[in-house]
Amino acid sequence: MKTRDRLRIAMQKSGRLTEPALELLKRCGLTFRQSRDKLFCFGEGEPVDLLLVRDDDIPGLIAQGVCDLGIVGRNVLDEFALTAGRDVAPLAEWRALGFGRCRLSIAVPQEMDYRAPSDLAGLRIATSYPGLLGAWLRGQGVGAGVVTLAGSVEIAPRLGTADLICDLVQSGGTLAANQLRETEVLLESEAVLAGPQTLPADERGDMIELLFRRLDGVIQVRE
Ligand code: ATP
Ligand code: ZN
Repeated sequence: MKTRDRLRIAMQKSGRLTEPALELLKRCGLTFRQSRDKLFCFGEGEPVDLLLVRDDDIPGLIAQGVCDLGIVGRNVLDEFALTAGRDVAPLAEWRALGFGRCRLSIAVPQEMDYRAPSDLAGLRIATSYPGLLGAWLRGQGVGAGVVTLAGSVEIAPRLGTADLICDLVQSGGTLAANQLRETEVLLESEAVLAGPQTLPADERGDMIELLFRRLDGVIQVRE
């Protein structure tokens, strides 16, 4: 592949992380002009462009070298690490960005008598995070069925397709609306800046170092 001389950062095209990510980059002194097809945002001052995609595609795009960095939830990054396979380049979480906070939790029907993870043995758990859930179950020494769903995980117990769920929780409102109760937190998540474990040794590497310094300033000021 021809090496690029501009830095390319992947971010969510439209969703919870889009506005705060753009705001953060703006505070780092980066401004962009959007392409007609809304796939790219071209940097106006610095040689940094954005690629606007679904959040689930971001780790793969970094691993393939299509993008140098990505802004994505830790939940998506860690799930990718657990499910991508051995031949895929490992990624690193370079910075935690302080927005998009949520947690990946086990939630059970309100009336279920839950005391400890061992109570989950033999039950079916619906989730969009089979890698993270599977790793947690193994760590707990619990054998449970994992039902992988792309979305609407919270309605699975009412539909009868699973006994309980493992899903992202922010306020708990969605759980309450579905008569579910949070019992275990598997992962505390927020948006992170992800990249390859080894950063490029060319001008893009210098640009990344500069971006890290600016980010550290902005994040420190905010905290
Ligand atoms: P896409 O179309 O990009 O695939 P999506 O529906 O998967 O979008 P969003 O719902 O916008 O994604 O969530 C993006 C990220 O926001 C999540 O991966 C997670 O890191 C974070 N997040 C914060 N709070 C929540 C929440 N309550 N539910 C889901 N995600 C949350
Ligand atoms: Zn997604």
